[in-house]
This record gives sequence, C-alpha cells and structure tokens, in this order.
Amino acid sequence: MSITDAFFCVLCGVAIDPKHRLSTRYCGRKCRNKATNLQRREETLAQRSAAEEILGRHALWLKQFQLELLRHAPPEAGGYQAGLWTGREVCWFPWLPKEARYRNTLLRTRSRYRFFTLYPFEPPSVPLETFYRIRYVQAVPPHPELPASIVPEWFISIPFAVRIHGLPFPLKSIPRTIRR
Ligand SMILES: [Zn+2]
Repeated sequence: MSITDAFFCVLCGVAIDPKHRLSTRYCGRKCRNKATNLQRREETLAQRSAAEEILGRHALWLKQFQLELLRHAPPEAGGYQAGLWTGREVCWFPWLPKEARYRNTLLRTRSRYRFFTLYPFEPPSVPLETFYRIRYVQAVPPHPELPASIVPEWFISIPFAVRIHGLPFPLKSIPRTIRR
C-alpha cells in the first residue's frame, strides 16, 4: 500500500477523514464489516478447497482407514474419535468448543457430534499430521466412549491436517518427537 491510497477506503475508494487516516484502512464501520465478511467468505472457500483436495489426494488412504475402523469396531459402536497426545494429556478429535453447537466436517456438512460417524463414514478432521489414538463411541445417545476393555485403542498416523478453530492448547506445544 502506497502513501497515496492510504488516504482512501480500500474497499469503496471514498476519502478517509484525515483524523482517522493513520488508524484505519476503511471509511467507516460499514466498509470494515463488509471487509470482514469478505475475508470470512474467502476463508470458507479456502477451507472448502482444502477439504476437497484432502479427499481427492488421500482417497485411497481414507478407504483403507475406513476398512480398518470397521474391522476393529465392536457392533455397538456408532462413531470414533482420534486422540492427540499434547504432551500433558490426550485431546480428542473432533474438537467442538463448548460454546459451539456445530462443527464443519471434511465432507462439507455440519455436525453437532463430538465424534466422527462410522455410518456413514466421516473422515477425521485433525490439526496435525501425526499419530492418533483411535477409540469408539456407542451408537446410542449420549454416545459414551467404549472402554478399552471392550475394544483396545489402536494408533494410526493420519497423513493430513486441517485448520481447527478454538483448540484448547497451542499447536506449537505439541512435542516435536511425536510430529511426523
Ligand atoms: Zn469505504
């Protein structure tokens, strides 16, 4: 941005009040909100194409993972979760912040579940390419986790990652030793 166009709203081109020139890039709240919305829309589009890219590039891996999941799953299982060791505890995915009612799935649908469904198969959404512990939840609400005595947990390396908002820990805190 040059000095000259700093004097005009970057969205509508209207001249900015000299009092605000140095502190804003927009002529007012309306343009600033509009810019925020555009940015959100761009983020959504970027997330969508990232999801499509993952589904395409990892189609074979996903098919094999699905078969593996079903092979280990006890009949009462309806979903699964992927656990990431954060160095202090295991954080289970899918992650849905307490205040959030829905999360976006890789299949571009919305889910209110704190687990990935087995039927139909929902691909995992995880924040890092690394090893995850897999456990199952009951098909019947409230979908309690199935204890390791019924189905032993197993591990798998998930070869892709997506951006996940509102994580309860900083991604940078994940020990390097468990990263791929
Ligand atoms: Zn404007």
